[in-house]
Amino acid sequence: MAIHAHPEAEKLAYLGLHALQHRGQESAGIVSSNGETLRSHRAMGLVADIFTEEVLRSLHGILSIGHTRYSTAGDSALLNAQPITVQSNKGAIAIAHNGNLVNAGSIRARLEGQGSIFQTNSDTEVLVHLIALSREETLPDAIADALRRAEGAFSLVMLSRDRVFAVRDPRGFRPLAMGRIPAATGEKKDTIVFASETCAFDLLGATYERDVKPGELVIVGPEGISSRFYAPSPAISSCIFEQVYFSRPDSLVFGRSVDQSRDNMGRQLAREAPVDADIVVPVPDSGNTAAIGYAAESGIPFRLGLIRNHYIGRTFIEPQQSVRDFGVKLKLNAVRSMLEGKRVILVDDSIVRGTTSRKIVRMIRNAGAKEVHMRISCPPTISPCFYGVDTPSKRELIAANKSVEEIRQFIGADSLAYLSIEGLKKACSDGEKTTYCTACYTGNYPTKIDVDEILPVGMER
Ligand code: AMP
Repeated sequence: MAIHAHPEAEKLAYLGLHALQHRGQESAGIVSSNGETLRSHRAMGLVADIFTEEVLRSLHGILSIGHTRYSTAGDSALLNAQPITVQSNKGAIAIAHNGNLVNAGSIRARLEGQGSIFQTNSDTEVLVHLIALSREETLPDAIADALRRAEGAFSLVMLSRDRVFAVRDPRGFRPLAMGRIPAATGEKKDTIVFASETCAFDLLGATYERDVKPGELVIVGPEGISSRFYAPSPAISSCIFEQVYFSRPDSLVFGRSVDQSRDNMGRQLAREAPVDADIVVPVPDSGNTAAIGYAAESGIPFRLGLIRNHYIGRTFIEPQQSVRDFGVKLKLNAVRSMLEGKRVILVDDSIVRGTTSRKIVRMIRNAGAKEVHMRISCPPTISPCFYGVDTPSKRELIAANKSVEEIRQFIGADSLAYLSIEGLKKACSDGEKTTYCTACYTGNYPTKIDVDEILPVGMER
């Protein structure tokens, strides 16, 4: 996320990152500018733990960008934490990236061949090198030049001494929204903010203005706000999984309410895959909104039959005498008094490997449920994502290797049904003109995919 300009920009970035914590829990960072120099702090862990009062004091500035990261193949290391800051002949720049480039491998090989030295193994660093090496004279021109060479998913915020830049790739894979905080009395200008999700704006008291458009570079500087399109947009392919799972339901993503999309998914699922049962139970929190939609459409009561413990840290000590399904039990527990003797419709957003779903079905049965009918608010996940979502390889994706009936047997449910692709698209568009990337459900990738080209993922939030 990014802030331009505010007397306590670093504090706004810090608060905004709290609202975006769900998008990455591996590391976080803030870089701010006091108008002269950039100051950075990045660390492994959660926003609340990383930024102490003392750290925030050291980051005091009027412009700021921030990032929370999760990665897939990349090292989960401080080295790869973002924002990345570099000194270049165009001045100091910091960059935070949400997404994943699909041509980082060949660009990096070419630049290394020409003598460039890379400090990290993240795809994002490639962009910084391209900007620094660009023959264009001004920073905005160099950024536009670099972006034209990048392929794949990139929503970016960048910071220079006196400007904030916000970018989306021409296909608009990942979200990036722009908001505004009205100037306080005595201040001349409104504060402009950018964030992956609008839930960060709500926390800051900012109003959502619009999305950064696919192929657009927005620059906010002393002269005000300017915008240019650095590349034509071939076809929009926004990530549908943002609506299914990734984003928070209180956000607008791609200009749409995620809550509304998920409620629609649940209703559509109830129409496509009805089943006679006593209660509809969500897998919290990922299945909550779709389960509400399913219950409303089917007329079957919605009940919280699984309770989630929200206080599980990253590390925990497992007893030596192994407790069956320990990991899931630590996070979820079944409400026996409610489930006993019931026919349960269990709603979740997706099945990835199937191992968690299997444990949850077992937990519901052990609590006395008579039947367990699993309903999934998207189609089977059959292909990995190369655009910034952490999905395992095809080998580990259960739906890439098993039929729906075989998955049903594996997870031990009485019935299993997924939402259709047409149903999902309808739920996420309501007749509006929104085109989505659905590669994880169809295997049709909107860009060329060469696995050797793909460097470890660096996903902003
Ligand atoms: P499993 O049954 O082991 O495949 O796990 C399914 C659970 O993983 C569901 O509750 C999903 O909400 C969750 N999930 C789906 N996609 C992802 C993802 N990309 N990263 C983390 N969790 C996910």
